[in-house]
Amino acid sequence: MKDIVSLCKRRGFIFAASEIYGGINGFWDYGPLGIELKNNLRDRWWKDMVITPPIGPDGSPVEIVGVDSAIIQNPKAWVASGHVGGFSDPMVDCRETKKRYRADHLFVMVPEDKSTEKPWATYLDGEEDSEKTKRLKKAGHKNTDPAAYQTTEINRLGVENYKYVLGPDAKEPGTLTEPKAFNLMFQTYVGAMQSEDSIAYLRPETAQGIFLNYKNVLDSSRVRIPFGIAQIGKAFRNEVNPRNFIFRSREFEQMELEWFCHPDEAKMWRDFWFAERQRFWKSVGLSSDNLQMRDHDSDELSHYAKAGLGTADIEYRFPFTAPGFGELEGIAHRCDFDLTQHQEHSGVKLEYMDPTDSKIRYMPHVIEPAAGLSRGVLALICEAYTVDANRPSGIYLNFHPAMAPKKAAILPLTAKEEHVPLAQKLYMDIREDFAVDLDIKQNIGKRYARQDEIGTPFCFTVDNDTVNDQTVTVRERNTMAQERIHMDKVRDFLHENIKKRG
Ligand code: ATP
Repeated sequence: MKDIVSLCKRRGFIFAASEIYGGINGFWDYGPLGIELKNNLRDRWWKDMVITPPIGPDGSPVEIVGVDSAIIQNPKAWVASGHVGGFSDPMVDCRETKKRYRADHLFVMVPEDKSTEKPWATYLDGEEDSEKTKRLKKAGHKNTDPAAYQTTEINRLGVENYKYVLGPDAKEPGTLTEPKAFNLMFQTYVGAMQSEDSIAYLRPETAQGIFLNYKNVLDSSRVRIPFGIAQIGKAFRNEVNPRNFIFRSREFEQMELEWFCHPDEAKMWRDFWFAERQRFWKSVGLSSDNLQMRDHDSDELSHYAKAGLGTADIEYRFPFTAPGFGELEGIAHRCDFDLTQHQEHSGVKLEYMDPTDSKIRYMPHVIEPAAGLSRGVLALICEAYTVDANRPSGIYLNFHPAMAPKKAAILPLTAKEEHVPLAQKLYMDIREDFAVDLDIKQNIGKRYARQDEIGTPFCFTVDNDTVNDQTVTVRERNTMAQERIHMDKVRDFLHENIKKRG
């Protein structure tokens, strides 16, 4: 992961926010290539959902429309959605270091014989074995093999045992408090007066903006059940332990679909979206080996999912979770929870009336595929990162061509007068169709290395032969194989190769 983070910074994908001031924990900025990569993933999702939605079980395309709702909504909406009362994770505080940990992410290593002679060491979810060994050593244990201990989530450890527990950053045992709820929503004030009455929240998910507009969309467009409303945008959660680069941050982007259907059809649509969403992640280049579907255990289920068909996650094997997996997207059956809540709290009727028979009225059920755009970008980068000792850069990014920030680079072999104008001409020919880089200076080896590191699928090099016969060398990123084609064929070549793989 360290290598990936450093490549992201060196090549301009992702930077720490406010880096010159020492950063701010849990916030990240996207650089020139990162924003291109993110936009490619975002646009592909939008295209697959809204512009050309998938073919439904009846053989015709399903109906999906988009919205872009405000980040700040009436705070009553977050009371209705359950976020004001319930959007909290149980947390434990350390009285000694004043640090705060999510209880379901904090694990205690209990000696097999439950001996309390030495303090019980702890670690945070996702930490490597070498880190756990260090923590056992720090607690004074002779046996520093983590496998020799029973691992227990602190939530599941009786409070009477807390006095034996050495917090992850503490010097003394017994400094952790009992878990207590901590609300993850960021608060702000609307208007000039800062008072209880002017408190508002930055949205912790994009989904509620969709439910709030459900009636507007039905009344103003021609969609009828079953149909979906899609939204992509920022979400904010005051995560207690932001970590693993952009995997868990405090400001991130989501791509969410709320699919409204008849309650009797919820199961069919859930199965449909399970399959469809896995297909999507494979189509942008994630390999099946690194993806898995996992049904939530019953104690993980959110309040609304308990009553319905449950929730399943699409998980990706990130380097920091390997050999395990981390959530990339959750697909939940939200039943009629949200619309019913908003109807109750707002007093506005949100029932669906069947257009063919006004006597048939019901509250639609919702299947929600909720994906992380930021986590998706991280998965694309992790998947693409390939070590290859046979090339000068030592690594290349094996992006799916449709996701690659640059589809091609045009490289004059030298900055000589006869090479540069031809390269410029080629660049002008294809820049309307594809995101291409014209890179003139530095020796050709270094320029190839740079393109490998930013994952450009093809380089076209203009040399002396180009001056004579208008052919250029095409270099393919993964194989480094080279062939010559005529300059006039470059655009067709890209259309053919990028489409073929896309
Ligand atoms: P987690 O259990 O990891 O906290 P969640 O189950 O609360 O996530 P959802 O509310 O289902 O997440 O949000 C949908 C998607 O939004 C997640 O699958 C994930 O990709 C993304 N997401 C959620 N929280 C974060 C975060 N703090 N940083 C980046 N992405 C996030």
